[in-house]
Amino acid sequence: MQFLKNISLKEYLTMQVDVQARKAVKVLSEADIEQLWKVYRHELQQALVIGGGSNLVITASPDQLVLLMEIQGIEVVHKEKKVLLQVAAGVTWQHFVEYCLNNNYGGVENLISIPGKVGAAPMQNIGAYGVEVKDTIQRVKVFDLTTGGFDWITNEDCHFGYRESIFKNVAKDKYIIVAVEFLLTTSDHTIKVSYGDVQKMLFERNIHEPRIQDVAAVVAAIRASKLPDPKELPNCGSFFKNPIVGVEVFTKLHARYPEIPHYSVDTEWVKIPAGWLIEKAGWKGLRKGKVGVHEKQALVIVNYDGADGNEILNFSKEIMKDIKQKFGIELEREVNFV
Ligand SMILES: Cc1cc2nc3c(=O)[nH]c(=O)nc-3n(C[C@H](O)[C@H](O)[C@H](O)COP(=O)(O)OP(=O)(O)OC[C@H]3O[C@@H](n4cnc5c(N)ncnc54)[C@H](O)[C@@H]3O)c2cc1C
Repeated sequence: MQFLKNISLKEYLTMQVDVQARKAVKVLSEADIEQLWKVYRHELQQALVIGGGSNLVITASPDQLVLLMEIQGIEVVHKEKKVLLQVAAGVTWQHFVEYCLNNNYGGVENLISIPGKVGAAPMQNIGAYGVEVKDTIQRVKVFDLTTGGFDWITNEDCHFGYRESIFKNVAKDKYIIVAVEFLLTTSDHTIKVSYGDVQKMLFERNIHEPRIQDVAAVVAAIRASKLPDPKELPNCGSFFKNPIVGVEVFTKLHARYPEIPHYSVDTEWVKIPAGWLIEKAGWKGLRKGKVGVHEKQALVIVNYDGADGNEILNFSKEIMKDIKQKFGIELEREVNFV
């Protein structure tokens, strides 16, 4: 492990908020965590864990220990018709997806180009282009901060939902995720191309029987054309979850806005794109001081000029208040605030 003192976390956060950590540790192995538990148990229990910092905004310099998750390694546990992989928390998500594509392992190709690290993927059950990571996760290996030991949490016990898991709610701050076990296909892959944009680009590229590598290439191209690169415009991707409202609420909204896009969740619930609500309310491209909504993506809040975490938080609150007033819908932030 590597101890660091008084470092700026700006380079560790894609929103590039400039806060200082008094004490930080680069965690390079599971043994590092056991070691920290033996010597600094209290600090470890209070620690702030950072993966790729792509879904995290920090509003004040953290007093507690900061853990920078750097554990590396991808291990093939078992391979037959499917392959079982154990992937360490510090592996970058993009590296993992590319590893799968190179080895022709199917299941995560639609999730290409999502920033961050493998350890954080189960936190909010990352998803994109019709796929959620929960569909490939077998188990999650954790260090339990109440017992001081390692444990495995099964997929079922993670209680995955739309951008949700126990790690984000009931078990928040209870575990450090150290590895994730994925079960992926090695042949007869299930190709998921239900999204119109993906179908359109495959057609334009004259690909009629796409391989997982084709799907990944198309998704990566679409994402690059739509989403701002955090290195150029600091952001955390989608800032809000897409709200899910009851059919009655939706029917009233639909009467007022017949053009409102929507996806039926089941017979009782309807999902509405938060980006549409934000754009309709006039926020797209709107900038207030150092913070603004991206001009092409209404769901993305951009830190244009060195804003601090509170400015970003307050800006998001203004949007939430306005959406509530205009549509009667409570937006929920997808991004984690500390
Ligand atoms: C441009 C852009 C596009 C994006 N697109 C998508 C998308 O399409 N779909 C999607 O779902 N998300 C998307 N995101 C959000 C983000 O990339 C994901 O949520 C990602 O999984 C976060 O990983 P991270 O390592 O950066 O997590 P961090 O931001 O470092 O951490 C997120 C939270 O998890 C906790 N945490 C991190 N690692 C661990 C660990 N090992 N153990 C315990 N707790 C931990 C942190 O304390 C924090 O609360 C996007 C973000 C950006 C910037």
